[in-house]
Amino acid sequence: MDALATDFTKISSILDGSQNNKKVKLRGWVHRSRTSGGLCFLVLRDSSGTMQCAVKKDAVGEAAFAAASGAFIETSMMIEGTVKEDKRAPGGFELSASAVEVISQGEPFPIGKDQSTEFLLDVRHLWLRSQKLTHIMQARDYITRYLREFFFKDNFYEVAPPIVTKSACEGGSTLFELNYFGSPAYLSQSGQLYSEAVIAALEKVFILAPSFRAEPSRTVRHLAEYWHLEPEMAFYSQKMNMELQEKMIEYVCHKMAREHAPLLQAIGRDPADLLQVKVPFERLPYEKAIPMLQELGFKIEWGQDVGADEEFALTKDRKNPVFLHNHPMGFKAFYMREDPSKPGTVLSADLLAPQGHGEIIGGSERIWEYDELAARMKEQKMREEDYKWYVELRKYGSVPHAGFGLGVERLTKWMLNLDHIRDTIPFPRVINRVYP
Ligand code: ATP
Ligand code: MG
Repeated sequence: MDALATDFTKISSILDGSQNNKKVKLRGWVHRSRTSGGLCFLVLRDSSGTMQCAVKKDAVGEAAFAAASGAFIETSMMIEGTVKEDKRAPGGFELSASAVEVISQGEPFPIGKDQSTEFLLDVRHLWLRSQKLTHIMQARDYITRYLREFFFKDNFYEVAPPIVTKSACEGGSTLFELNYFGSPAYLSQSGQLYSEAVIAALEKVFILAPSFRAEPSRTVRHLAEYWHLEPEMAFYSQKMNMELQEKMIEYVCHKMAREHAPLLQAIGRDPADLLQVKVPFERLPYEKAIPMLQELGFKIEWGQDVGADEEFALTKDRKNPVFLHNHPMGFKAFYMREDPSKPGTVLSADLLAPQGHGEIIGGSERIWEYDELAARMKEQKMREEDYKWYVELRKYGSVPHAGFGLGVERLTKWMLNLDHIRDTIPFPRVINRVYP
């Protein structure tokens, strides 16, 4: 058999019953194996699933049988055989092998049962083959596909932001500095300031790119490198911004539940939970959230930021996400517009995911008038010249606009009901890990 040939069958297309009694060729990796006497059961894995293959010495010959029974977990191989319906086999079908060929025998696989989390992170390059991570990577791909699809259907343009920048978007404390031909520059924390420039050309845009945050602590929802979906829209208000977000979330949740129910179930998320996500999401003003939290025993006062524990308390019993909006101006980013009808608060909205998952989106209406921006920057002791080009956008045909930032890994963590963000990305970067 030729490993590069194109006449191999995908395992998933056998498990639907269409290949019963037909002769097929499979290629993949050994998931499990067990030999007794002249019979070896190999469970073969490819990207689409796993399948039990019965290899009999009589049927394949001495040498091929030795290859099959001597295979390690993860040995790569090709197996030819006939598909037989068999109720006892996982998936209901078994391949009765007529030929077996090893592609690469390799060495005994270093990952066994009950390994520590740290060890599995050390061998992440191999652990990615586990069913759990395979399923999560597939689901994440579908989630990002549907996000893009949602925006393309609504006539957004996808644009590419710079990753190396001079400006801090979300505050200096979490910047990664680098040496840019002898002068300091930073890895982007957000592409928002740049997409605000592009909307004067394209009106409705989104960025889907990595953002970098030197997060100083270990939490279950912070990565140092994450994928950031950042739509920005000209002529959008806070209200329109929130309506777009809830429509987007409902779209992705329903599409996942309808198209990938078995995958969700395999990961541990009941598709029915995602079908329950329905617009409109509740709007909870910050000023109402504070007394609610105080009642729950939190020592929080008006003017203080809502942290992870508070977000957990606000969302643990919910089925739908909730918008926490109109935060006090003090701790929010400089570019957020003050609410003319509620002075002292900004037109901000964070979307909190249900079941305690917490913030998945931070959005706002932006300051679009020069005087207001200049005054705010002065208040926050920022130097206008550090943001020269950004400020300049307010001098040439500025328009009201709004946008938001969604963490793809945060969304995935919630949608798949995972307890840690690290498994939503193949190679997580956190404070104590950049390997592998
Ligand atoms: P948090 O308070 O949870 O740290 P943030 O206020 O710093 O979030 P924003 O700056 O508003 O977050 O970023 C927009 C979105 O990007 C967040 O809602 C979240 O989904 C995502 N995000 C922010 N920081 C991280 C991170 N370190 N890892 C993964 N996703 C992140
Ligand atoms: Mg943060």
